[in-house]
Amino acid sequence: MSSRTSNEVARENDVAGCLHFTYEELKEATDGFNMKPLNLGGRKLGEGGFGPVFLGKLKFTEVAIKILRNVPKGDKAAATLATEQFLTEVKVLTRFRHPNLVTLIGFSNSANWKCLIYEYLPNGTLEDALEIGLQNPSGNTAENRSNKRISLPWMCRLSIATDTARGLAYLHTADKKNQLVHRDVKSANVLLDLSFRAKVGDFGLARPLEEDKDERKTVRVVGTSGYIPPEYYRGVITTKMDTFGFGVILLELISGMPSYDPRRTPKDLITYMEGDMDKGNPSILCTKVDEHAGDWPSESFVGLFTIAKDCVEPKLEPRPEIAHIFPKLEDLMTNSATLYTEQENYKHQRKPLQ
Ligand code: ATP
Repeated sequence: MSSRTSNEVARENDVAGCLHFTYEELKEATDGFNMKPLNLGGRKLGEGGFGPVFLGKLKFTEVAIKILRNVPKGDKAAATLATEQFLTEVKVLTRFRHPNLVTLIGFSNSANWKCLIYEYLPNGTLEDALEIGLQNPSGNTAENRSNKRISLPWMCRLSIATDTARGLAYLHTADKKNQLVHRDVKSANVLLDLSFRAKVGDFGLARPLEEDKDERKTVRVVGTSGYIPPEYYRGVITTKMDTFGFGVILLELISGMPSYDPRRTPKDLITYMEGDMDKGNPSILCTKVDEHAGDWPSESFVGLFTIAKDCVEPKLEPRPEIAHIFPKLEDLMTNSATLYTEQENYKHQRKPLQ
């Protein structure tokens, strides 16, 4: 009987469709976990709460490798939380596979270190593409990639909105008995491929709805401020929590502004946009459209504003499910594309941003 190497054993224990890579393989793939940013010849794509993310080359393929940062020794709570989020990410992404959800290629869960390997999405996060990250107002990772600003035209924004809604609607409806809530829907968790197709990522906080029902009284507030609906602070968690976060993303896509900005009055984007949303007057509304969005048919942006407004409805009951919003976005895409084609010389008289 031939003896098997530990690597062979590990490969046999792979979770459905996920590959196992050794530390050495990943070290080689990332030029020794080179921490220099990409534009300075290194491999670092960015850093989140989990740890650094590197661009790696594995089996002739570019991948994004997320390394779990070591938590300080003795901080048991932080270690438990990090492991919990790591396992949730693996569980969700191996079970829910969809063109608009980021693909998990592999992971490592050895005693000493943990990492996650994803498909590489060269245009980074939506937050970076819109340059609305407050930590790095100049959009560090987008800059790292190309040294030039990415402009997202209006139709591309509509397509990103539709892709994101499709991914979330799948998450909410794929398993009827066990609906999954993402719980951290934000532009930093929407990634863009080479053709700017959007994929939802970062499932570390995702929970089945049933599990959360049991936790209602003791819910720990997670997620990102600026994207959290009012009922969540009362411990109420439903798939409509994701609708709210998605609505804020729509407002970001329309305005090119961050969900929360301490330098802006008012600081939160919903209040900033809301006054004008209520007036419903297109000529007032259009002053809030991002100047980098190019030309847009007014019917199209009024349509998107209306959907965004429904999504950020503070009351739970009238706020729609994303599964119901998705067909509306698809219609808006089709109608807007027709308007662009029909009005070939179409030029919207833009008003200057105020
Ligand atoms: P947090 O996890 O704390 O909410 P985050 O979502 O911004 O923060 P990460 O998901 O760890 O953090 O990602 C950090 C950065 O790495 C991102 O901003 C993005 O630029 C880059 N990145 C992450 N995943 C990928 C990927 N699959 N392809 C390309 N770049 C990626």
